[in-house]
Parts: sequence; C-alpha cells; structure tokens
Amino acid sequence: MQMNKAFVREPDADARVTCPRCGSVGTTVGNGPIELYVPAPLQDQMKNAAWCCSNAACEVVYYNMFEQTVRAVELLTPVYPYDSNAPICACFGFTLQDVEDDADESQPLRIRALLARSHSPEACCQAVAVDGRCCLREVQRLYMKLKSSRM
Ligand SMILES: [Zn+2]
Repeated sequence: MQMNKAFVREPDADARVTCPRCGSVGTTVGNGPIELYVPAPLQDQMKNAAWCCSNAACEVVYYNMFEQTVRAVELLTPVYPYDSNAPICACFGFTLQDVEDDADESQPLRIRALLARSHSPEACCQAVAVDGRCCLREVQRLYMKLKSSRM
C-alpha cells in the first residue's frame, strides 16, 4: 500500500503549517470566516483545520495540513488585498479609499474612529475577517506608506 505523505504529518498544535503554494507561515482561522467566504462544497475540508496564507501575492487564501487549498478566485465574495476595492475591515466596511482620504488630510480621523470602534463589542474580526484578525495593523501600515509617499 502506498502511503500518502499527507497522512504521515502529525497534527501538532504548535506546528507551523506553511502554505503549500508559497511556503509562507499562515495564521490559523476559525469556522466563521470559512463559512462566510468559502463555497459550501469546499467548506468541510477547511472547517476546524484551516490556515490563512498571509502572503497577498499568493493566490491561496486558505489551506489545510493536507495541502488542500482555497484560492482567492474561488471565494464567494471578492476580498482585500486580492481585490483592492473590497473592504480592508470586514466589521465596519473600512476601505483603501478611506485610508487614502485620511492620508490626504491633516488628521487621520477615519482611522481614529475605526480604532475606537475596533475596541467596541461591535468588532467581530475573528468571525468575519478573511484571516480572522483585526485589520488595524494593515490599515496603519497602509496609512504610513501613503503618508510618507505624500510628503
Ligand atoms: Zn501562499
């Protein structure tokens, strides 16, 4: 009998499971985002066992330890950063345009408001963000980048 190498790998809570396409270290993601973004026929293989590839240049969004993948083009809705018009923040619909508008002004009022809301019970990144994480790091990175390019 031939052994599939996928079944030789032992699941390990501390294991860093890397993206089978690009090799990036991903982040574990719960069932909330899987149910929101992954088409039903692909959901079962990803539930309770999915990682999100954090490399925006990689076409893979979700993968599991059996090297099964869900690509950005297979998702039910377009998502940031694969589609730059999609909201960066799934909780409050914050977009790249909002970051650009803030960078054009003297004070980042939109980002400050987002920061305040992100600490409120309305924020549900774990359940609705593509990678299950808060978007603020990405928003701040984009803002700094835009701000420095406008000086
Ligand atoms: Zn990848």
